[in-house]
Amino acid sequence: MLTINSITNGIVIDHIKAGLGMKIFNYLGLDKTDYTVALLMNVPSQKLGRKDIIKIENAIDFDFTVLGLIDPDITIDVIEGEKIKEKIKVQPPSNVKDMLKCKNPRCVTSVESNITNGFYLVDASKGEYRCEYCDEIYKL
Ligand SMILES: [Zn+2]
Repeated sequence: MLTINSITNGIVIDHIKAGLGMKIFNYLGLDKTDYTVALLMNVPSQKLGRKDIIKIENAIDFDFTVLGLIDPDITIDVIEGEKIKEKIKVQPPSNVKDMLKCKNPRCVTSVESNITNGFYLVDASKGEYRCEYCDEIYKL
């Protein structure tokens, strides 16, 4: 298996569903950084079969809430002095502004582009959200 030197201080985002690593990588703007980052794709995993991992050699401020929206099953390890200092479990956020797009073509947020769309969580286990304006269900 391909290995990458472990990081000294930073963050490891693990258990990313295979294929979503690139999305998270781009979302966090890691392609534009000047510190060491690694995106490992299709790593064999007992739990998931295949998974993606992101390693970041720098303690940056994350919006973990948003990561929970992209993939609620990821784990985030905060590394200090080559040891795991903290494990963070992300959750799907209860409210989402301007991240999801309503699929109802008649919804006011689809018709008028200047309205900030909003969704609220109705079922965390299924990843189901409802549009604030038209009640249309959105599944993650
Ligand atoms: Zn809507």
